[in-house]
Amino acid sequence: MNPWRGDFPILKRTVNGKPLIYFDNANTAQKPQAVIDAVDHFYCQHNANVARAVHLLSEEATAMYERARERIAAWIGAAAPREIVMTSGTTMAINLVAQSYLRPRLRENDEVLITAMEHHANIVPWQLLCAATGARLVVAPIFDDGTLDVQALVSLISPHTKLVGVTHVSNVLGTINPIAEIASATKARGVPLLVDGSQALPHFKVDVRALGCDFYCFTGHKLFAPTGTGVLWARYETLDAMSPWIGGGEMIDAVSFERTIYAPPPRRFEAGTPNIAGFIGLAAAIDYLAAQDCYALHTHEQALLQRLLEGLKGLGGVRLIGSAKDRVPVVSFTLEDAHATDVAMLLDLEGVAVRSGQHCAHPLMQRFGVNATLRASMAFYNTIDEVDQLLAALALVRAKLA
Ligand code: PMP
Repeated sequence: MNPWRGDFPILKRTVNGKPLIYFDNANTAQKPQAVIDAVDHFYCQHNANVARAVHLLSEEATAMYERARERIAAWIGAAAPREIVMTSGTTMAINLVAQSYLRPRLRENDEVLITAMEHHANIVPWQLLCAATGARLVVAPIFDDGTLDVQALVSLISPHTKLVGVTHVSNVLGTINPIAEIASATKARGVPLLVDGSQALPHFKVDVRALGCDFYCFTGHKLFAPTGTGVLWARYETLDAMSPWIGGGEMIDAVSFERTIYAPPPRRFEAGTPNIAGFIGLAAAIDYLAAQDCYALHTHEQALLQRLLEGLKGLGGVRLIGSAKDRVPVVSFTLEDAHATDVAMLLDLEGVAVRSGQHCAHPLMQRFGVNATLRASMAFYNTIDEVDQLLAALALVRAKLA
């Protein structure tokens, strides 16, 4: 019996008359009751805006919101809560680094170095900057097995490189990149390293300082928390040397029409009313994860992964996209003579939710010469039985489409 499954109420529902089999966790993960309860409790008992009013509810809401920041900081190994900027997600966190950190430092002919396996969120913000400044986007290649060519990446770092951006885990290939190794190379060359941790934290614990990177970004909704929550971590000195990007309430110390004094980080980067309930939910998600046996989680996820990989190989006519040794249970594949979206729609009739398409990674699709893939992405609450049902459903779909 899976010990975590009962904590996720949505997994009890049916889809098209069949029990739901949710294999779209890399897109967004389901929420445990503890997170739902934390959000519900906030709205029922404490709802008020943060850091503004002197009344009790506002004080409570502020304390809960700041406790969430402390919880996040401790969970990822930040030196202090003030190193945690709360954003709406990874997308906003990367755009913040692009606009606040890099934009003032980027000149014509400078370079931003990324990899061929990035999500659009770690491509397009840099393209916008390059277009505005005359800088260039440089892309490190990957091997056919979906692993990063780290040597090539390091050799592409030049005196022009002003930032390196690498995903910790690919949302398409499941590949885990060797961030500590990359960080020691970027550090030796004095170039800042940004890591997109969106797909890493749902599968293993991360210590941002041990990794040695300069910016670490992640999103809450893939980490079993509400949507509209995300984090940018950077050392305090780095944040303190950055100008604000989005202006408004809460990010200032004093405003006059002549001169505005900005608040210190992280408030400097948190203009407007934040997703208070969402971050209280994120803290609850972290509390939930902290209470689990992480070895058991990891072992179970790897068992799911191996079962799916072996089953897909046995099915015939399947092309696996990516076969890295170090990977999370995210599996992309194509079925011979079948369009991914048709397959995903037929799987949905069997109650199986997978993603089909290009996974916000068009350049990676081009790299592998495919228009679209199917992607089954698993979480610890999935079961071996569900993997077998997916394989059986795929066999059925193949027969239907033949
Ligand atoms: N990076 C990666 C690797 C992702 O998988 C995603 C979400 N698919 C993002 C960035 C963007 O996250 P968000 O939409 O929550 O900002």
